[in-house]
Amino acid sequence: MKKRQMVLRRNDQSHRNSANSSLLVRTVRYVECQKNHAANVGGYAVDGCREFLAAGEEGTSSALTCAACGCHRNFHRRVEEGEGEAEGAVGFE
Ligand SMILES: [Zn+2]
Repeated sequence: MKKRQMVLRRNDQSHRNSANSSLLVRTVRYVECQKNHAANVGGYAVDGCREFLAAGEEGTSSALTCAACGCHRNFHRRVEEGEGEAEGAVGFE
């Protein structure tokens, strides 16, 4: 019993330490698709998708697939809109 209490206490502490970053309210959007569909022929052509739209519900694998162009979310440009400190996420050219 004593042991268990100690573990719980420890968990609580580490939780508090890491809470700093996870408490930041931040909205992440995924905009233009930047997948190069012509990479295999040495060219550059994107599909023109303007904004990532999840094909499925959050938590499923299709939530990472764009419903519009079918590419993985990683191909879409990530834009962070943070409250307070924005770490230079919005870089316009
Ligand atoms: Zn795409």
